[in-house]
Amino acid sequence: MDNAEDPAGTGARRRPRPDVTAIGNRRLRPATLMMGHGFDPALSEGALKPPIFLTSTFVFESAAEGKRHFEGVTGRRPGGAEGLVYSRFNGPNQEILEDRLGVWEDAEDALSFSSGMSAIATLLLTFCQPGDMIVHSGPLYAATETLIARILGRFGIGWMDFPADAGEETIAQVMEAAARKGRVALVYVESPANPTNVLVDIEAVCRARARVLADAPPPVAIDNTFLGPLWQKPLAHGADLSVYSLTKYAGGHSDLVAGAVVGPAAHINKVRMMRNTLGTITDPHTAWMLLRSLETLELRMTRAGANAARVCDFLSGHPKVERVGYLGFLAGEDSHQGAIYRRQCSGAGSTLSLYLKGGEKEAFAFLDALVIAKLAVSLGGTETLASHPAAMTHLSVPEARKAALGITDNLVRISIGVEDPDDLIADFEQALAAI
Ligand SMILES: *Cc1c(COP(=O)(O)O)cnc(C)c1O
Repeated sequence: MDNAEDPAGTGARRRPRPDVTAIGNRRLRPATLMMGHGFDPALSEGALKPPIFLTSTFVFESAAEGKRHFEGVTGRRPGGAEGLVYSRFNGPNQEILEDRLGVWEDAEDALSFSSGMSAIATLLLTFCQPGDMIVHSGPLYAATETLIARILGRFGIGWMDFPADAGEETIAQVMEAAARKGRVALVYVESPANPTNVLVDIEAVCRARARVLADAPPPVAIDNTFLGPLWQKPLAHGADLSVYSLTKYAGGHSDLVAGAVVGPAAHINKVRMMRNTLGTITDPHTAWMLLRSLETLELRMTRAGANAARVCDFLSGHPKVERVGYLGFLAGEDSHQGAIYRRQCSGAGSTLSLYLKGGEKEAFAFLDALVIAKLAVSLGGTETLASHPAAMTHLSVPEARKAALGITDNLVRISIGVEDPDDLIADFEQALAAI
């Protein structure tokens, strides 16, 4: 916009400024880019922060421009719309958000969604057709398992899974077996798995795909909600698409629901076409909230991660604790999981599995005695949350599968927030004493 209007008549003109992403050879880090990347104040009356664009539609400068935009929107011309058209397709807040989300994984492009599940559903519908197979790691987030097995199953899409800790051979065998049943349209991974905290070896998944499915390699997508975007960058390990529930760390304040898919333009353009049709995009207000959240993402995650390490050290030595499941303990472990952790993760996250001595009675007594930690499901917020998977999130999971996943009655799931770590330890200490 080189001839920006001058509504106040001061003679001063707001000039658009280039989006600076490097100083000399130095590429600016994500924590820096979260403050201004993708937003030019000159386009919004000089506002330091982006306004919330509450509009359902956008005005074209000319009929020819409108036609060009629609050629992009409908896919007649690749690359999507060059400008804004209609708010089911995109808007300024969502576009700024998408530019900033891509930064964390150095991805070409990103899309925002109304929830993590709408992101996952849009992704699956983009790549899968009747007769196709999905190969996935297990366990997955419960709603994702329901979507794949029960909903997509109704449309003739099949699936086969491999255990999260499987090696390349096992993964390759599952891919081979799936390929005998239909075209493998998508490999879908979740790492770490919830609530087992088991890491999936992304590079082994990609090697197995290259061996077994070389003729028509399907995209490898990964749900990176638990460690992303700070502590695990799957695209750097060969995954094609990273999927997020932004409800968790990215939003980070337990006050919104949103999702994202991040990856190369060629894949993202296909997902965008499906999102344009379904209307699963996030709304402008939520996108704006996420822009605010991303400014402190690294601060929040770093503090929560450090807090979790302190809390786990305390809990693991306590006489009323049977054991603590925490990724940080893998760092020095001489095992397959330890090797994956060191290669794939730069931090352990802030969710932990606390196995108390006893059963449901002891776990409930502990939960009911907590005063700082709130009893709620979800994770990645500023506040510490605690829940009982067997009685809550995984209540409807059959007993045998619960046992296989280590979801026992003495398990408490905790998401550590950014409070003072010694206050948190004091809370856990008094709650353990109350058992
Ligand atoms: C929360 C979550 C989802 C679903 O996200 P919503 O934003 O609740 O739709 C998917 N995967 C994982 C790993 C999650 O934790």
